[in-house]
Amino acid sequence: MSDFQQGILVVDDQQVVRHTLFLCLQNLGFKNIYQAENGREARKVLNAHSIKCVFCDLNMPVEDGFEVLKFLEAQAYPGAIVLMSGEEEEVLASTANLARLYQLNIIECVAKPLSFATVKQLLTASERVLDIEGNHAPHSPPPLTAKLLKGYIDKGGLNAFFQPQISLSSGRLKGFEVLARLFKPDGSMVFPDQFIPTAEKHFESITELTKRVIECAYQDINQHGQDIANLSFAFNISAKVLEAANFPQWLQATTAKYQLRPEQVICELTETAFTTDQATIDTQMLRLKMMKFKLSIDDFGTGYSSIAQLHAIPFDELKVDKRFVLDCLSNTKSAAVVEQSIQLAKAIGVDVVAEGIENKDIGDFVKSLGCDIGQGYMYAKPEPLAVFDWNSADIKIRTRE
Ligand code: C2E
Ligand code: MG
Ligand code: MG
Repeated sequence: MSDFQQGILVVDDQQVVRHTLFLCLQNLGFKNIYQAENGREARKVLNAHSIKCVFCDLNMPVEDGFEVLKFLEAQAYPGAIVLMSGEEEEVLASTANLARLYQLNIIECVAKPLSFATVKQLLTASERVLDIEGNHAPHSPPPLTAKLLKGYIDKGGLNAFFQPQISLSSGRLKGFEVLARLFKPDGSMVFPDQFIPTAEKHFESITELTKRVIECAYQDINQHGQDIANLSFAFNISAKVLEAANFPQWLQATTAKYQLRPEQVICELTETAFTTDQATIDTQMLRLKMMKFKLSIDDFGTGYSSIAQLHAIPFDELKVDKRFVLDCLSNTKSAAVVEQSIQLAKAIGVDVVAEGIENKDIGDFVKSLGCDIGQGYMYAKPEPLAVFDWNSADIKIRTRE
């Protein structure tokens, strides 16, 4: 743990807090520990030294913690940040939510005072985030240009990754969500937030991309050699794709070509799909439905039109957005959104998926509310299909090493 050679900064207006934290860090073997009593001093330290981790109080009389976050964001600060606050739990949870909007590696928002064990655990988490950075870098590079995107796709860089969806009542594999991944010629992976927005700006491009992801996934499924007859495969379909006149027909023909049944295929429609030409989009959704594909509302709860859409279109499923699921155990408002979404789904008779289940407690919570299906890092991250192994008799997911 002592490879934080670049230094740690503790920002707090209370000397006793700074001192206690200083002693904890020293005991953990850290040497370059800097202190600042407000945001202004913190900026000076950050300008003068290389700091790998910042412990920052939020409530300070001169330049508070949010000012520090603003400064760090402007600097594209790559280190880890732990926010500290003396506020009550609900404020702390809202603050943690707000802090997520900053493009920073915020490890956690914790209540003061911090125990030795908490500091140790936070530093371990920081190291994990900084060293592995298994998911998204906080400073995602800007979206790819259309030209680069096309170049990578033409070179065969587009791939389908699969994330398991688990039936919460049986613990068995129910199916997969298919997520697009792009590989550059140097082998590095690009996440969807860097290329889907670019593709969506160009009607042809997002349609082309979606078709390729689906074909790619179908090929992987066909090659996998395991019994897939009872599994479902969910694809993300954006509004622009639905605007393409022949998309439902294309999906029908392609699904048949790969010998999958339309009932196995779920079209996840994001809420942005409901904002453009509504009549066209509703018509296309109904076409898909009549072809026996399943319809799902993705990111439920993040827009304004979802309840009306749920009412208007015969959806089969709604997916509670991970932003509510991730912190539903610490944020009463998120818990309420999760609970209400599940109740709504039950009341109108559609399946409900909770995405963003990162640990067993969250899984148990959503299950206790009656949620049918779970998806999240607790079960598995998105991976190539070949990584997963299951047998048809007992479809319990396990990862091939
Ligand atoms: P989405 O459809 O809501 O997909 C779920 C996202 O949540 C995925 O991110 C997945 O990796 C992430 N996720 C799942 N479980 C957890 C968890 O436990 N914790 C956390 N922190 N995250 C979790 P990903 O793959 O980066 O995709 C982001 C978004 O990009 C997707 O959100 C979807 O809207 C879009 N996308 C991905 N593939 C495609 C595609 O082929 N076409 C279109 N139009 N959009 C796509
Ligand atoms: Mg989705
Ligand atoms: Mg989602």
